Amino acid sequence: MDNIKKLLDLNGKTAIVTGGGIGIGYGITYRLSEAGANVVIADRSNDGDVAAKQLLSKKFKVMSIKTDVSQETDVQNLIDQTVKKYGTVDILVNNAGIYPVIPVTNMSLDDFQRVLSINLIGAFLCTKYASRQMITQGKGGRIINITSIDALHPSSMGLAHYDASKHGLWGFTKNAALELAQYNIWVNAIAPGAILTPGVQKLQQSMPNSGNIDMQKMLDEMLRKIPMHRLGDPDDIGKVALFLASDMASYITGTQIVVDGGVLLS
Ligand code: NAP
Repeated sequence: MDNIKKLLDLNGKTAIVTGGGIGIGYGITYRLSEAGANVVIADRSNDGDVAAKQLLSKKFKVMSIKTDVSQETDVQNLIDQTVKKYGTVDILVNNAGIYPVIPVTNMSLDDFQRVLSINLIGAFLCTKYASRQMITQGKGGRIINITSIDALHPSSMGLAHYDASKHGLWGFTKNAALELAQYNIWVNAIAPGAILTPGVQKLQQSMPNSGNIDMQKMLDEMLRKIPMHRLGDPDDIGKVALFLASDMASYITGTQIVVDGGVLLS
């Protein structure tokens, strides 16, 4: 039996974390790097560069590649550059996602498509090119999709496009798991509840733009409903992602771990 340190050791493995420069993605980047993985942050803004610089100062092996996950050529470039730098892609975390609050009656086709193209199509594109690379390497791999409790149950109004994308991502996770198991690639999802991140803070600030939806009331109600009486922290998700990326999760594929402080119970 392997000892616990060995089970959690990711030295020699390379991970890609989309949207890994801030928020939940940063929590995941941090724990995978701490466990010894080379981590590539795939972000469309400068967040990735800033985070990589910060983590390099801790002697973590992190780099950033500017990527818009909804653009196929960007995703191909991400995989090519990662392999060029580190030789392999062993772990993919599909975390990049957006959640603008828009009442469905005011939602434009463009609003709906934008959410789908990042949250669902982005995860598909990254999975397609990363899994092809993993199959070529012949040593298996791990794919972790960050869904949401909204993949199971709506958390609030104004997220019809988001809930469609996250239900879709959960379905995608299960089918990809079924297909990729033959190559020893395990595909799982993490469904966070309410996690305090820059994205959620931005949402609070956008309150006046959310039509007939009172954002503050919605967030207060959500907090009241959490049995653990606190919002989650990005590290609450980072620790579970490390578990799924490591040899601790040796017999798990096609599942979704809910990390929500118990909110789905209420
Ligand atoms: P966040 O604070 O807004 O961070 C998201 C990161 O993803 C940002 O760096 C963002 O870059 C990046 N990103 C967005 N679109 C991208 C694209 N097309 N290509 C590459 N990167 C892109 O969000 P978060 O709250 O940490 O959420 C992360 C994930 O967790 C999302 O999938 C979200 O749906 C899921 N989630 C979050 C919560 C929560 O309560 N926070 C709950 C359940 C699920 P920009 O700054 O350029 O936009």
